[in-house]
Amino acid sequence: MTIIVTGAAGFIGSNFILNWLSKNKETIINLDKLTYAGNLENLKSVECNPNYKCFLGDISDSKFISFILVKYKPRAILHFAAESHVDRSYHNPDTFIQTNIIGTYRLLEESRNFYNKLSVKDKKIFRFLHVSTDEVYGSLNKADHAFKETNKFYPNSPYSASKASADLLVRAWFHTYNLPVLITNCSNNYGPYQFPEKLIPLCIFKALKGENIPIYGDGQQVRDWLYVDDHCNGIADVLNSGRVGETYNIGGCNEKTNLEVVHTLCDLLDELCPRSDYKSYKEQITFVKDRPAHDSRYAINASKIINELGWKPKDTFNTGIRKTIQWYLANNGRLFSI
Ligand code: NAD
Repeated sequence: MTIIVTGAAGFIGSNFILNWLSKNKETIINLDKLTYAGNLENLKSVECNPNYKCFLGDISDSKFISFILVKYKPRAILHFAAESHVDRSYHNPDTFIQTNIIGTYRLLEESRNFYNKLSVKDKKIFRFLHVSTDEVYGSLNKADHAFKETNKFYPNSPYSASKASADLLVRAWFHTYNLPVLITNCSNNYGPYQFPEKLIPLCIFKALKGENIPIYGDGQQVRDWLYVDDHCNGIADVLNSGRVGETYNIGGCNEKTNLEVVHTLCDLLDELCPRSDYKSYKEQITFVKDRPAHDSRYAINASKIINELGWKPKDTFNTGIRKTIQWYLANNGRLFSI
């Protein structure tokens, strides 16, 4: 049996492959375009694993996708590939439309062509799992209930709008063509191998470099943080036991303001890698002009995946963030080489 993972040279996809290969003997294929966010170094430790294969290409390239599907006959496609950075989506929405919408559409079409030719037995097994974000649901006020799978979509950035569009296409391919899809919408992830443009690795990088640690606006934006391995386990649970056509929210019940997150990072860095002058890294925190349409709060209600599939996060924010900082300190060449 084989599964295909798109975008697995990126942050979550590479963690997913490492996690998967540590527990499974099945062949796993990484299909990645290697944009600025992809890095095959993330997967160096499994490069020689006979169950791991990697093909470089674009999910929008129908011929390429079709070739891989026909050759490897996967039992599942896990679709992580995306343009994923909100700030970049303000400046260059085009690539977000191309990859997140057109790319997902092409992948769905090739999956449908492939699925239609499968035997009845193989059709029963096949799954197309689309990995998405809580940002599709928009922004919450302080007193609002956390996002449920039934919440309406109110995306506010080109990134979240493109992801919401992709989610809707995936849903439509289930209802119109019976493609057996699953969708996951997850909160903010953190952990090893994240590209250092995102909040946590960026702050560690700036702190260690002795530069200002920038925080948008007043830093009171709330995010629900989940350790990346817990997200990967949730995706595997949905793939193995999720009900076809359903959406599952995945979140850590770890709501924190950005400022709280950065304070925790500084406290841990003070402990694990003190500054040469023994002052706190907090001295480097600087507030910068907020970004446009900055959502004020995201929170996930994960009771569906918890109750239906028995998933629950293993790491709390405190255990996960300590492991994350230790990883970046041990691998700080990764931060400084970019
Ligand atoms: P990432 O930016 O780190 O990685 C994206 C990967 O996709 C890269 O390896 C890149 O080379 C590849 N890619 C981009 N365009 C491609 C294309 N056209 N064809 C093939 N490959 C392409 O992203 P990430 O943070 O790992 O996120 C993975 C998925 O999870 C995304 O779909 C994202 O929307 C979703 N998600 C992310 C988070 C988060 O906190 N990072 C939270 C919830 C959901």
